Amino acid sequence: VLSCTVLIVGAGAAGIATAASLLKHRPGLGILIVDPSERHAYQPGWTMVGGGIFKPEDTVRPMSDVMPEGVRWEKASVAAFDPEKNEVQLKDGRRVAYRMLVAAPGIKLDWAAIDGLSESLGHNGVTSNYRYDTAPLTWRLVQDLKGGRALFTQPPMPIKCAGAPQKAMYLSGDHWFRKGRIGSVAIEFHNAGPVLFGVKEYVPALMAYVDKYRAALNFGSRLVAVDGPAKTAIFARTTEDGAVIHEKRDFDMIHVCPPQVAPDFVRTSPLANAGGWIEVDEATLRHKRFDNVFALGDAAATSNAKTAAAARKQAPIVAENVLAVLDGKEPPCQYDGYGSCPLTVERGKIVLAEFGYGGKLLPTFPTWMIDGTKPSSLAWYLKAEALPPIYWYAMLKGREWLVSPRHGTKAA
Ligand code: FAD
Repeated sequence: VLSCTVLIVGAGAAGIATAASLLKHRPGLGILIVDPSERHAYQPGWTMVGGGIFKPEDTVRPMSDVMPEGVRWEKASVAAFDPEKNEVQLKDGRRVAYRMLVAAPGIKLDWAAIDGLSESLGHNGVTSNYRYDTAPLTWRLVQDLKGGRALFTQPPMPIKCAGAPQKAMYLSGDHWFRKGRIGSVAIEFHNAGPVLFGVKEYVPALMAYVDKYRAALNFGSRLVAVDGPAKTAIFARTTEDGAVIHEKRDFDMIHVCPPQVAPDFVRTSPLANAGGWIEVDEATLRHKRFDNVFALGDAAATSNAKTAAAARKQAPIVAENVLAVLDGKEPPCQYDGYGSCPLTVERGKIVLAEFGYGGKLLPTFPTWMIDGTKPSSLAWYLKAEALPPIYWYAMLKGREWLVSPRHGTKAA
């Protein structure tokens, strides 16, 4: 049995940022991180890879490079949580005992839920920005497509970066627009949900681009099967009287955003709520039933937009709350649900959605600098130039003054 003071499960955006933040507050704290992955990915960059703006290799680093100094990293997978015993079980059979647990294992991309998708992905015009190895294919397909039909799909919520499926569509549309191919390339957006974007203030700006690229919007239309060689996709649509009808669409290219669920070992664990997510208080991010457990990032049962931007705000809050609980106090910090979705509507312009719980707008910048409800060149600069270094050198290093203003409050 390994043992530690704080065990962090998952060394993604949320896990590394929390470890770094904990060590800034308390150097020498005994932290153990468990994650099987050799590399750490800056996933927000994959939209830009799919748009031909970033190189894929710029979005990943060796995991050893992002591990904060002083942290012990076990390159292993957690198989099960055992919170009654304050332990986790690793896949290799070992157990890890902890005083405090921070769970940040991310979300599971459920490719297998779409019939034929796993076999088709990467060939026959089937691509996705949700994978490191297929994001570059999106850009190749977009450049090669001179005419025909391009489909873009969005599964039911929740997904990480809810705007990413339509970001892929806009950046593709922008390329075809600049090449004079709108009209030859017919764009369709198939969204399992009922609206273009969940926070209504951003919809008018997005609709202007839907019109510009002449994209046909299909709501309540859920991808259920892909046949790569035949180049057809099947969508399920629920009619007003509750019947489910299936529609077949031919395509020349299809960008798929896969359905997303809580990781299996989370869903089946005592930490999960009925939906499979880790059941934490939305404000303190402390588990509702296990006082020495916290969760953040995509795996947590919080209603914020599942984004790295959310993890950036959650990590310092979790760090302070964990330390308080270790000291026998109540968690002092509260998270307001901040998340951000920079919608890349064209090369050089972004609609910067920033909002918290309940869809409350939480802009970082004054309106005269960036009005989030309008396309902005400065917001593009932020995404293309400023956010990657902020991620690597501030968020993952626990430099909180750089990722401020912290969207949360501290009890007096
Ligand atoms: P992750 O960063 O996914 O990390 C999870 C970690 O847990 C991984 O390292 C994994 O190896 C590990 N793990 C999994 N299972 C186990 C196990 N059994 N045992 C131990 N470790 C395990 N966010 C934004 O803020 N802005 C954007 O513009 C944006 N765009 C996006 C575009 C795309 C295409 C994608 C895919 C994501 C985008 N995101 C964006 C979302 C953002 O990347 C995620 O919300 C963020 O990475 C969540 O952090 P996390 O630490 O919870 O999960």
